[in-house]
Amino acid sequence: MIPIRHPSLTKEHEKFIELVDELSRRFIEPVADKIDRENYYPREVIRELGKNGVLAPILPREYGGYGMDVLGTALSIEVISRYSGSMGILTEVQGFLVTDAFYTYGNKQMKEELVPKLARGELIGSFALSEPCCGSDAAAIETKAERRGGGEWVINGKKMWITQGGLYADVYIVFTRTGPKEARHRAITAFLVRRNKCIEASPIHVMGIRGTGTSELTFNDCVVGDDDVVGKVNEGFKIAMEALNLGRIAVASVTLGLSEAALTEALEWVRNRRAFDQPMTNLEWIQFQLADMMAYIETMRSIVYDAALHFDRKYEDYYAFASIAKLTAVLLGMDVIRRAVQLTGLMAFGAIVS
Ligand SMILES: Cc1cc2nc3c(=O)[nH]c(=O)nc-3n(C[C@H](O)[C@H](O)[C@H](O)COP(=O)(O)OP(=O)(O)OC[C@H]3O[C@@H](n4cnc5c(N)ncnc54)[C@H](O)[C@@H]3O)c2cc1C
Repeated sequence: MIPIRHPSLTKEHEKFIELVDELSRRFIEPVADKIDRENYYPREVIRELGKNGVLAPILPREYGGYGMDVLGTALSIEVISRYSGSMGILTEVQGFLVTDAFYTYGNKQMKEELVPKLARGELIGSFALSEPCCGSDAAAIETKAERRGGGEWVINGKKMWITQGGLYADVYIVFTRTGPKEARHRAITAFLVRRNKCIEASPIHVMGIRGTGTSELTFNDCVVGDDDVVGKVNEGFKIAMEALNLGRIAVASVTLGLSEAALTEALEWVRNRRAFDQPMTNLEWIQFQLADMMAYIETMRSIVYDAALHFDRKYEDYYAFASIAKLTAVLLGMDVIRRAVQLTGLMAFGAIVS
């Protein structure tokens, strides 16, 4: 694999990269193919990463994390994604979207009892925001939470595209409408909902990022209490947006890791392949492709690490840099991967069935 080097990395980051790489080789590499081919959900891998503080590295060690900054967390997702993009997304959802949200906004009980179990991979957590009606326009969600006597709330509605949401989740952070639809983001509340018979799950067949347990969820009269409110009533939208700001960096890191793996494989292929009586690497067009891919990857690295540093240094406009990272890294990454497929010829397209 191409080395991960950058002037902003500390010795601690470098040591952490080695640990994540070693764990990825041990636990992810052997099942990476199975995740894609068989839509296999790697429950045991999540537990192993959790045991080592790599599932939610941004949390302090006493909460099951590794005490890393946002840059360190982005690095761990990048390294994991070199072995499996699906594992990168699973660690993003479990670490950034769910565990860190409960850690930052949850009450004492959520923080003390739930967060360490999520960080260690003993419990699986899902982030339930998107709905059949609305994804980009998250302020329009329709799932309702209605307050009734005795400090109880009743949740009804549908959620869509929920990673590890169906068969696997033990707990959910569910974003609900708690006021008129016209109030949009000002009437959205987040709740902790535990796995329960009131939640119906339908797996969704996906063509990429397989093995992540993507599901549609239906909440039928799910009863929760005042104690299950995450943060404050009608202030849930901010929790979702803050989690997704970190999530944008994570998605950019997944693309960076996948692009590095694609370049590594393509390079190995053209080094060993001969065409027109010479090694393919002698052909100038091939050299241009490899040079462009390397340049794009190093550009992605700078953009992603820069966005993470904006968070770590608490710059006011950190959220804009998270969006810039997601937008540009994904565009460049798709181009790197397209070129890797082209360089590898039909070997990127088919495999002999043994
Ligand atoms: C791998 C994966 C995992 C996911 N996991 C989760 C999860 O765990 N929990 C969760 O809640 N959600 C999850 N999602 C859902 C994801 O957040 C939504 O897919 C996303 O918000 C987009 O919503 P949508 O698919 O409904 O598209 P839409 O919002 O319907 O958008 C369709 C198209 O229109 C474009 N568009 C939308 N608005 C505008 C506009 N104003 N101007 C111009 N163009 C516009 C969009 O860019 C897009 O190209 C996941 C998605 C993926 C791909």
